[in-house]
Amino acid sequence: MSDISAEKEVYLDNAATTRLDAEVLDAMMPYLTDSFHNPSAIYGGTFSVREAIETAKKQIASAVGCEPDEVFFTSGGTEADNWAIRGYASNTIVSAIEHKAILELSHRMRPYFKFREIPVTSSGVIDLVELANSLRTGDFRLVSVMYANNEIGTIQPLKEISGRAHQMGALFHTDAVQAIGHVPVDMRKLGVDMLSMSAHKFHGPKGIGALCVRKQKNGQYPLGAYIIGGSQQKGMRAGTENVPGIVGMGKAIELAARDLQKNAEHEAKLRNLLRELIVSSVPDVRLNGPEPDSARLPNNLNLSFKDVEGQQLLLMLDLWHVSVSAGSACNTESISPSHVLQAIQVPQEYIQGTVRFSLSKDTTEEEIRYAAQRVGQCVKTLRGELYARHFQ
Ligand code: PLP
Repeated sequence: MSDISAEKEVYLDNAATTRLDAEVLDAMMPYLTDSFHNPSAIYGGTFSVREAIETAKKQIASAVGCEPDEVFFTSGGTEADNWAIRGYASNTIVSAIEHKAILELSHRMRPYFKFREIPVTSSGVIDLVELANSLRTGDFRLVSVMYANNEIGTIQPLKEISGRAHQMGALFHTDAVQAIGHVPVDMRKLGVDMLSMSAHKFHGPKGIGALCVRKQKNGQYPLGAYIIGGSQQKGMRAGTENVPGIVGMGKAIELAARDLQKNAEHEAKLRNLLRELIVSSVPDVRLNGPEPDSARLPNNLNLSFKDVEGQQLLLMLDLWHVSVSAGSACNTESISPSHVLQAIQVPQEYIQGTVRFSLSKDTTEEEIRYAAQRVGQCVKTLRGELYARHFQ
């Protein structure tokens, strides 16, 4: 057994949130202390604060391939997604495996606009033929498909999707919340009109995100204001800016873009090791998401264990200080598998036993070896209990 102390957390839930980078905290500190001024004021102390916001816009624009004046700050990924859909307010096509920030909203907007959910293949890739047919036969003005899925890590063919949307005169929005820091993002190259991000997914602070909105040929933004009030952010999203958050997100994305390749290689190597260690020692395990590994986020591993309850496995792993996430959502009546696992048709005998492991640049080989050993041990225990009950 690896000599990781039983008290040290092995954190493998980086798709949920990431640790704040020390350099990011350093960059934020002045704006939490002496440079506290309201950027809308006009005395001397506000100059550096306004400048810090402009720097963050440049850092973000350069990381995702847009212009600084196309970056609008939000409270996170959920708000950015909501703004893209509600701000454009028209008939919309989405994929069946979008985050709830898109899917729940689309369900609520159905009385006012048409929404079509396009199915995905068994590896989670959007059905491009179905997408093209829907665009041809319906009056859809917006397509929203996530760059990478938060559960199974599937990376979508954004260029093909945006090409089809534009061909039919629709705009293209992508939720890139899980992609940033793991795969290259370039709005211009990928034909993305609007892009959502969230800083806490790439070692920035929580409560800050952005919607990047490309100006159209007429020089106008294609969507309306989201929060009405003062004139901050061109009146498009009023309210005093979260300056420490904005500075932190700017720094975090600069670091993420600078170290992208190195971090992605590190994550993929350890993710593959985790998979090998588990699959070689535990029978009846199923990988969810695409093969080859390169079609998936480098930090994602989603596995289903036959005859195991994912929530139980998660709780048991927690006793060993291994933090992971299950592929199901508890509600008061039942534990139901996620809409993503259902959409990719994970077989019944596997679907409840799903666990998502998500790594980061900080994950170590020692942690991976320790986690794999604990997973093997816990699955064996849970299956043993189940079979013992069965044959009692
Ligand atoms: N979109 C995706 C794909 C996500 O994974 C998440 C968070 O898990 C969100 C949106 C929401 O982001 P936030 O937590 O910043 O609101």
